[in-house]
Amino acid sequence: MTASAEDKMQFLFALRSRGVTDSRVLTAMEEIDRGLFIRGLFSERAYEDMPLPIACGQTISQPSVVGLMTQALDPDPRDKVLEIGTGSGYQAAVLSKLVRRVYTVDRHRRLVREARAVFEALDLGNITTMTADGSHGLPDQAPFDRIIVTAAAEDPPGPLLAQLKIGGIMVVPVGQSDAVQTLIRVRRTDAGYDYEELRPVRFVPLLEGLGKDA
Ligand code: SAH
Repeated sequence: MTASAEDKMQFLFALRSRGVTDSRVLTAMEEIDRGLFIRGLFSERAYEDMPLPIACGQTISQPSVVGLMTQALDPDPRDKVLEIGTGSGYQAAVLSKLVRRVYTVDRHRRLVREARAVFEALDLGNITTMTADGSHGLPDQAPFDRIIVTAAAEDPPGPLLAQLKIGGIMVVPVGQSDAVQTLIRVRRTDAGYDYEELRPVRFVPLLEGLGKDA
């Protein structure tokens, strides 16, 4: 499934009307075709502003939420970014257009394999994929300028806070997995961490260990 001109217009209109106003983020989301990250029947709905099911019982996030999270991350072209929760790979692909390097981790090997195939097809050479429990972060690659978590934790995981550079930003949904959660932005300063509540969101939970298919 690839986007028609009309699909694209509606897609970008929905993003803008939901508050995605950063022109670099909009351009990146125009460049990365969401239809390539969704398989099967649901691919027909790729350009609607809604989350959709993907393999392993997971979901590709709603495009406007991807846009708002990317915007909240305030990405810089020099940044090294860690994403926890590769899922379909869509968020990582959007980020790859905006920063120097993206490390993306998922606990399901199958999702990582499928996302990697799309990154290769799109020639997105600055994304490194990994199958792992991302709540421990990636100590070997730390510290990161930016960290984005696309699964909900009860609290921002300690190892991720520790792997954020001073001056760095982390965006993470926090709260109980079966309730509405809050998207939080954490800034690491010389003195510690500043927390800011952005908006209510709903994500699948951040789970421990590797997925069953791994
Ligand atoms: N960013 C994705 C959507 C993520 S859905 C996209 O753009 O499509 C949340 C993902 O987090 C799921 O794929 C799930 O497997 C993964 N996940 C949950 N807990 C995890 C953990 N501890 N470590 C790594 N990935 C995890």
